[in-house]
Amino acid sequence: MAGTSVIELDRTALIHNLNFLQHFLGDEVKISSVVKSNAYGHGIEQFVPIAETAGIRHFSVFSAAEAEAVCNVKKPETDVMIMGWMSDEEIEWAIEKDLEFFVFEIIKLEKAAEKAKKLNKVAKIHIEVETGLNRTGFTQKQLVKVVKFIKENRDLFYIQGLCTHYAGAESIANHVRIQKQIRKYNQLYKWLWNRDIIPEIRHTACSAAAIAYPRTRMDMVRVGILQYGFWPTRETFIQYINKRMDKTDPLMRVLSWKSQIMSIKKVKTGEFVSYGTAYLAQEDKVIAIVPVGYSDGYSRSLSNMGRVIIDGQIAPVIGVVNMNMLIADVTHIPGVKRGDEVILIGADNGIEITLASFADFNNQLNYELLARLPMNIPRKVIN
Ligand SMILES: *Cc1c(COP(=O)(O)O)cnc(C)c1O
Repeated sequence: MAGTSVIELDRTALIHNLNFLQHFLGDEVKISSVVKSNAYGHGIEQFVPIAETAGIRHFSVFSAAEAEAVCNVKKPETDVMIMGWMSDEEIEWAIEKDLEFFVFEIIKLEKAAEKAKKLNKVAKIHIEVETGLNRTGFTQKQLVKVVKFIKENRDLFYIQGLCTHYAGAESIANHVRIQKQIRKYNQLYKWLWNRDIIPEIRHTACSAAAIAYPRTRMDMVRVGILQYGFWPTRETFIQYINKRMDKTDPLMRVLSWKSQIMSIKKVKTGEFVSYGTAYLAQEDKVIAIVPVGYSDGYSRSLSNMGRVIIDGQIAPVIGVVNMNMLIADVTHIPGVKRGDEVILIGADNGIEITLASFADFNNQLNYELLARLPMNIPRKVIN
């Protein structure tokens, strides 16, 4: 059965973005491609092999299930790092598979030691330190125990990395907090070094930090949103562009999301469209029904706000977004008919629907809309 919509991945755009990032960051900085949430909705299965073509050999995910999805398609020599949740069984699985993972709790460290011993293998760990995000990560006080435990179990661990995560590097408003985190991280790194805990690599930066705070790049950056062609925020883009002569956006959108018109109908002046009173026709209208709704990840918050492209023209989303359908105003589009392509995200005829175009009021919408694109929408690689 065909889905009601399809997600296309532009291979050329993705390779372009990764080449740009590699060039921008230079040879000294390794890129870990962050592919959590099904590669920000793009599809792990399709995304990973293309990224490998561009030379990526390190991927970051949140969960063991995502790591498994990467393992199913990656090259044998490519590394995978689990940054978040793992059950005890998954810790064992990860050690067996030589996967890298974050530790941020003594209990996880103890479990890792227990499993490594059982498997007669080494756990490749990244010690996550708390520097001010106040989420996961060891405080300096807890690190005393960590050091002691690792020293007692030296042969069970390989200290692959020392890491932390910033509390909003995409906004200048957080500047002081980020600077404090950088200092704290560097201090903890030295502190561990002095106690003979020497991680192979240091990594702290996400996309925004890598752009706005060059000092955070260190040995590796964990790049998510940029590789997909989106800036974390408008601010981050401006910070990048301010330092250059060329003011054009170096990134290309990788993902397009398309459906088609399911039905067309005329609505008379004074009628309400769809549930309730969200939209009143103030003149005679032609409307197109599109079989995509919030169950497909098209957020209800785009009711009366979203825009789509039909026949090369912008069509506003009117009324509330339903579970399986949305309605677009096509009054101004001559010759529009059932079966015509509807671009929910993407470009045509020099017009672009970017997530950011709805998102001026909320930059997080890029991340959220992408991450919510359901797994079951078919992904197709083009170009
Ligand atoms: C998601 C995530 C990243 C990547 O963030 P982007 O803003 O998409 O670059 C990096 N590090 C951690 C720990 C993350 O959870």
